[in-house]
Amino acid sequence: MKDELLFCPLGGSGEIGMNLNLFAYGKPENHKWIIVDIGVTFADDTFPGIDLIYPDPGFIVDKKESLLGIVLTHAHEDHIGAISHIWPELKCNIYATPFTAALVTEKFKEKKIDIHPFLKIVNLRGNIKLGPFDIELITMTHSILEPNGLKIKTPLGCVLHTGDWKCDPNPLIGDLIDSKKLKSIGNEGVLAMICDSTNIFSIGRSGSEMDVRKNLLKIFERLKKKIIVTCFASNVARMETIFFCAQKTGRQISLVGRSMHRIFKAARQCGYLKDVIEPIDPRDAKKISRDKIVYLCTGTQGEPMGAMSRISNFTHPDVMMENGDTAIFSSKIIPGNEKKLSKLHNQLVIEGIEVITEEDEFIHVSGHPNREELKDMYNWIRPKSVIPVHGEYRHMQEHINFAKEMKIPYPVKVMNGDIVKLAPAEKPFVYDKAPAGKKYLDGNISVEEGSNSIKERKNLSINGMMEVTILVTPKGNIHDRPIVTVKGLPINDYEDFRFGLENEIEKTARTFSLTNSRQQENAIDAFKSVCKKYTKNKVGKRPFTNINIVQI
Ligand SMILES: [Zn+2]
Ligand SMILES: [Zn+2]
Repeated sequence: MKDELLFCPLGGSGEIGMNLNLFAYGKPENHKWIIVDIGVTFADDTFPGIDLIYPDPGFIVDKKESLLGIVLTHAHEDHIGAISHIWPELKCNIYATPFTAALVTEKFKEKKIDIHPFLKIVNLRGNIKLGPFDIELITMTHSILEPNGLKIKTPLGCVLHTGDWKCDPNPLIGDLIDSKKLKSIGNEGVLAMICDSTNIFSIGRSGSEMDVRKNLLKIFERLKKKIIVTCFASNVARMETIFFCAQKTGRQISLVGRSMHRIFKAARQCGYLKDVIEPIDPRDAKKISRDKIVYLCTGTQGEPMGAMSRISNFTHPDVMMENGDTAIFSSKIIPGNEKKLSKLHNQLVIEGIEVITEEDEFIHVSGHPNREELKDMYNWIRPKSVIPVHGEYRHMQEHINFAKEMKIPYPVKVMNGDIVKLAPAEKPFVYDKAPAGKKYLDGNISVEEGSNSIKERKNLSINGMMEVTILVTPKGNIHDRPIVTVKGLPINDYEDFRFGLENEIEKTARTFSLTNSRQQENAIDAFKSVCKKYTKNKVGKRPFTNINIVQI
């Protein structure tokens, strides 16, 4: 059997979030594997009580003996967020640049795992040699520190895994995208380019952090009262911009929210943000006059626990807004969050606070490539094949169309789990399917989508619950009144409700011999159905119902 080179996404293809990509090299019976990125998605209201969703790693866990390592392109949660949850099942080395490594270390600290012996810090433009894979980090621009593409060289040819990127002509922190290197990779010949599809529908170019800075400064200059800015904490260039604007307009700055402090600290630790003014504690900031302070806070998407949400609800202990102040949302409104955010914006406007979002002013740029930037990359790399990833299906389909327009000989459309044979092959193609799915982090436990805990919580949140405990005497009669507990049911007259329910229960009890254990089981079902039916008639809800029969 001949050596072969494979690519398989387990997450991030068909959705934006939870990226997890695999590469394999070797003879079919002896593949060596690497993982590129290992991210999460944040759950929405359709999964009550679930915070994180990540790709089911089962396929690669089964192959952990032949897994050579995990390479991380950058520190966004959709690329590293699942690492501390999945790594314990893999226990392999992790390769990351210093800033990414700093954030990864914290994730493991939270889980009380000392990742130090397994975490290999790689310099920017560094190399990682993993068996047959010769990996080189290529400097990109994006919306976080230290974004990297990966040149993955194997004896069967070279792959460029772009990671998340854009062409920012002035990223403010970090180097420009290494177009020289990318061109030389293109000249060597590239079998396949695995490429970011996020902004495939956006024409032109995504813009520069520098332009955002210029515009924010103009806005700061006209504002006379308190300024509260929220941006993604991980966008350190944007963070630096807010420090810059504060300093230029003679204001102090205060950071609010856990992740803002966390990222600030990690960035400093890695040698960034050395020249900015020192932030002050929000408690001290209270003593400063309104025209001399800027707050930079978390919660761009109106997350209930984010600082911006608590400030807008006027429940934040240290930050107060009042008539005449300004709130600047220097971030994208992520699709799905529009309602939540407009509610929050309205709350502020009612109080006479000016709200500025990306819809009103040029105060945000995306970290992903628009079509003109994709054209640049295609022209530099000129790959034989393009495999779109990092997109919903519609993005990936459009990216395939784009690749065809760009005269790429063999674009390959993939979904999570598709195994693409990159070489040896006339043209890369999907030739097998790996099991792919999602895991839901429920408390500390990861569960399947159809898990009882999720199903029950959905049921409870919609229908409420009722618990009825029936005491049965040795002769099989009901003793005293059943103990009824209800939660989340719209009952006005509880005594009346309970009286009727007891009657129904007693009527049903007479049709069973409650001392007989087999009949008891049937009786429980009957009680359940009677209680549900009664409640449906009475208040229009069918609660989640639990019946206990207790022999006394
Ligand atoms: Zn990213
Ligand atoms: Zn991403």
